[in-house]
Amino acid sequence: MTILSDNGVFNNNKGSQSKKNPIIKPENIEYDKTFENSIRPKTFESYIGQSALKETLKITIEAAKLREKPLDHMLFYGPPGLGKTTIAGVIAANMGVDIKITSAPALERPRDIIGILMSLKGGEILFIDEIHRLNKVAEEILYPAMEDFTLDMTTGKSQTAKTLRVPLPKFTLIGATTKAGELSGPLRDRFGIIHRLEFYTTEELAKVIERTAEILDIKITKDGAIAIAKRSRGTPRIANRLIKRVSDFALVKYNGTIDENIANESLDMLKIDEFGLDTTDRALLSLIIDKYDGGPVGIETIAAALSEDVRTIEDVCEPYLLQAGLLQRTPRGRKVSPEGYRHLGQKLPSEQTKLF
Ligand code: ADP
Repeated sequence: MTILSDNGVFNNNKGSQSKKNPIIKPENIEYDKTFENSIRPKTFESYIGQSALKETLKITIEAAKLREKPLDHMLFYGPPGLGKTTIAGVIAANMGVDIKITSAPALERPRDIIGILMSLKGGEILFIDEIHRLNKVAEEILYPAMEDFTLDMTTGKSQTAKTLRVPLPKFTLIGATTKAGELSGPLRDRFGIIHRLEFYTTEELAKVIERTAEILDIKITKDGAIAIAKRSRGTPRIANRLIKRVSDFALVKYNGTIDENIANESLDMLKIDEFGLDTTDRALLSLIIDKYDGGPVGIETIAAALSEDVRTIEDVCEPYLLQAGLLQRTPRGRKVSPEGYRHLGQKLPSEQTKLF
């Protein structure tokens, strides 16, 4: 695996960061690349969950091999940490080809994208993370590359300008994004397979945790794995971070196997509640309830009040709060749901005693 750029792929330090809770937000983690890579599944068997995606991919790979053709371009979308980069690596391994990994913010100048495209070998996979952030020029260079495997280069100026068509080897582009809606129509249309990655179930995350524990030689009971899984916000990256944190706790305080009690006690200490919400998530819900009567309130207002950037709120906090049914998105802004009120132990406005 060739990593062309760390920018955005392993070091997702986008925007301002929460100093309050540096533990579980994927965006806030200075990734230990060796750690992430050492536990990254390399086969379909070890890639847990996402069964619909895996079935589709296995057939697509089989067909591409039979036809001796490269795979269709693919777009994977969904919140960070759900396994988009990992599945791209699994696909490459199954095809027996190399994968080059980069991210859109690292492709600012035309020569960045041209350089990468020209360095590709036949059949290779090019993985572009955060593909919704590609600039217009890079996108225009990509269109003929994706469609006809050519680079259209212009030489000379105005009337004397000539377009040169440079052939490229047949490659597969895999794009990943947290925001499929922000991709331009023409770019989206050039992907043969578009797939949304789903949040993982507790059982699936428990398997991720048990697998990671085995690789890291951490002892954990089934109930311990389930306890951590329940608080991992449906996200393998978070599950992997939490098992590491809990194992530190178990080592120092108990010198033993992680069971349900140790897991719960350490996660309480890390201020991660039984829904997996941390202090920022709870602050977000409390803010809407206390200051805006439960909403609706605009995302910019929420972000400013929490001193977070809008992207962190939209990409990291919100998807899980929406999925967990604690927050609702309305045309006029975000609203806390009745479940959200209950989760924080707050009374719904309709339940509050009206004094006047
Ligand atoms: P994304 O690209 O969607 O942000 P990654 O592919 O980098 O997420 O995955 C984050 C981490 O979670 C990786 O270190 C990987 O080990 C783990 N992971 C992701 N998906 C799975 C899975 N399906 N099974 C096991 N581990 C996974």
